[in-house]
Amino acid sequence: MNDHSRRERGDATRAIHEGLPERRLGEPTSISPAFASSFYTHPDAAGFSSKEFEEESPFFYTRWGNPTLRSLEARLASLERAEDAVVFATGMAAFNALTGGLLEAGDHLLVANIAYPGVTEFATTILKRQGVEASFVDPTDLDEVRAAIRPNTRLFHVETPANPILRLVDIAAIAEITRARGVKLSVDSTIATPLGIRPLEQGADFVIHSLSKYLSGHGDALGGAILGERAALASIRKEQLIRMGGTLSPFSAFLILRGLETLVPRMRLHEENARAVEAFLAAHPKVRCVLWPGSERHPQHELAKRTMRSFSGLLSFSVHGDSAEMARQIANRVEVFSYAVSLGKTKSLIFYIPTEPILRDSFSLDEASEAMYRDWAGEGVFRVSVGLEDADDLIDDLRRALD
Ligand SMILES: *Cc1c(COP(=O)(O)O)cnc(C)c1O
Repeated sequence: MNDHSRRERGDATRAIHEGLPERRLGEPTSISPAFASSFYTHPDAAGFSSKEFEEESPFFYTRWGNPTLRSLEARLASLERAEDAVVFATGMAAFNALTGGLLEAGDHLLVANIAYPGVTEFATTILKRQGVEASFVDPTDLDEVRAAIRPNTRLFHVETPANPILRLVDIAAIAEITRARGVKLSVDSTIATPLGIRPLEQGADFVIHSLSKYLSGHGDALGGAILGERAALASIRKEQLIRMGGTLSPFSAFLILRGLETLVPRMRLHEENARAVEAFLAAHPKVRCVLWPGSERHPQHELAKRTMRSFSGLLSFSVHGDSAEMARQIANRVEVFSYAVSLGKTKSLIFYIPTEPILRDSFSLDEASEAMYRDWAGEGVFRVSVGLEDADDLIDDLRRALD
């Protein structure tokens, strides 16, 4: 072997090649087919219990594993530089499986004070009923993090960049604290994608992705994944996937695999367009504040440059004056943007997230954290998922909507 053959492949190649079936003459090699079969012939008498599941077991029943799902897991693990991945029906199913796999009654879960609302609500309702106590902490204040860890804390879950204000977390600094205290650290980096940040390399134990966003990229499939060490994931697969049953549809896996092929060029263009839209918004007289980690106007831009390799295409902004009225105006006027939730697809989306309802219904924050959120978000933020249209058309559309 010469040196060239030892070079590690780059992300664009991995996103297209990893997880494809072995090349055999006359068999498909350009795509992983969507294997819709729900069961597989078995070589001998097999039991029905997930106890029988071994990593090298032949395919048996799709809830246990399926060639299309395995292709997707291999591709995701390669992009994340993780030992393995387990995919689920949605991002929320992945998060629920992680907590289900790691926590039991009497344990404490620590969650970053700004996280995906579904995660926060899950922690304060369902996990609470299961006897797991959750508390919330500002992950940018390391002293607070140290103080928030209890003897029974098993998991600290953070999101970076955090929805919807795009606040960043210094994963390496937090990992140092959690490691020393025997607490696992999970990072939801859905918004950054593995191209923007690789939390495992910075010391995290698990990464969570919603595949419904940039990774599938076209807004036509839901999915979720947990990535991390093989042994931990094997036990999550056995218990939380095979027994709980949140299996991803092979058709969705097929769409996500196809979407992943263009992940690198898409993310480059999302970022380029976000840069142009951010500059336009920052100069607009009605805009109070714009938040995008790739801009030097972002309060944590130094941390972004130090820890992120690219900055993705999600930004948020707030306006002077009546935000709710502006939300109605924008919803009525946009033509290129859609006024809609979700993020990370080819088409540009904008959605208003008012501060008081999200503080009341989704987050459970102490006074200091609420003050921090109000400081960042004002009356509410417009979350903008900058798509892949021409940047000039996006800017014209926003100008018409805002003026
Ligand atoms: C969408 C999203 C989720 C939840 O994913 P689903 O696939 O919708 O269940 C979790 N975290 C973040 C950051 C998200 O954007």
